[in-house]
Amino acid sequence: MAGIYIHIPFCKSACHYCNFHFSTSLRYKPELLNALAKEIVLQRPYLSGESLETVYFGGGTPSLCTVEELQTLVRTIRENYTVTTDAEVTIEVNPDDITTEKLEGWKAAGVTRLSIGLQSFFEEDLRWMNRAHTAEQAKQTLELALTYFPNITIDLIYGVPGLTDEKWKVNIDTALSLGIPHLSCYALTVEPKTPLDKLIRTQQREPVDPDKQSDQFLYLMERMEQAGFEHYEISNFAKPGFRSRHNSSYWKGRPYLGIGPSAHSFNGSSRQWNVANNQQYIAALEKNEIPFEIEVLTVSQQRNEQIMIALRTMEGLDVSGWPVADQIEFEKEATPFLNSGQMMKSGTVFCLTKEGRLLADGIAAALFRL
Ligand code: SF4
Repeated sequence: MAGIYIHIPFCKSACHYCNFHFSTSLRYKPELLNALAKEIVLQRPYLSGESLETVYFGGGTPSLCTVEELQTLVRTIRENYTVTTDAEVTIEVNPDDITTEKLEGWKAAGVTRLSIGLQSFFEEDLRWMNRAHTAEQAKQTLELALTYFPNITIDLIYGVPGLTDEKWKVNIDTALSLGIPHLSCYALTVEPKTPLDKLIRTQQREPVDPDKQSDQFLYLMERMEQAGFEHYEISNFAKPGFRSRHNSSYWKGRPYLGIGPSAHSFNGSSRQWNVANNQQYIAALEKNEIPFEIEVLTVSQQRNEQIMIALRTMEGLDVSGWPVADQIEFEKEATPFLNSGQMMKSGTVFCLTKEGRLLADGIAAALFRL
């Protein structure tokens, strides 16, 4: 089983913290969508005939597509791949694009799950992030969306200067009171070369406080546990039966095909990524070429990826498939984290504890194989 990801590289405005690939000009949207459809056809051999059990429209902002444009892409996928009858079909949408007409259209196109880029229920935080939607739109459209799609996830960001602990609690409680079955919660990260990076460096924005981020993450973990959610990946919380099947496949190391500018693909032994430039992408597809770079992963690179990804999941890292000498060496290196209570071990499986999850990337990096 495999998954397909389609990158829609357009947004209404640029959120200050974002480092994804997108354009705020919709001028070449028709050409870009034609190129996506062409790449879907050309890439047919990549998954060696494996059935698709997940389809994911991400971005950028896929909800900027018209219903007809989305239907065309879904149809092209169905005509060229075997999509399982119970496939999960997710679309990332922004609150300001949600209308009754679009909700009906997404349903008719076969979408089964919405991922809403909500980020906060507070107006001042949305303005701070330069989001295109308002707090009022966030709540109203969420309620409307839930009447069409029971399977909804929302994104929330914590550790934002100005987001007090009290407001963070309100954000989580509002989502829970509305009955959202899945939350993706991210610590605000200041990525190099983003507008936020520049605003902080020029002292127009307060810097991020890592201690406050840790406190808000600890509160989040406790609150979601009380509410009956599984903390199945470091940033993801789901009611039983509502995990993201698409993202879970990434974390299990299953193959996936990424379509569109900047999209990544993985087939088990190599990783490839398309050019992150809309014009170059369109020009290449006009010549029936796919503009990508490829990296064949060495055994230690594959092992490091496995460590990094698996330690972020609730199921943890199972080293039973490794040579015995490597298992022994890994346990030796993990011992300081086991002793400090940041990791725990059951048989051949290593997991992060709540304290360990606060430092997940650092712990994984310390355990990387050369
Ligand atoms: S809508 Fe999403 S992809 Fe677009 S700029 Fe904002 S965070 Fe980035």
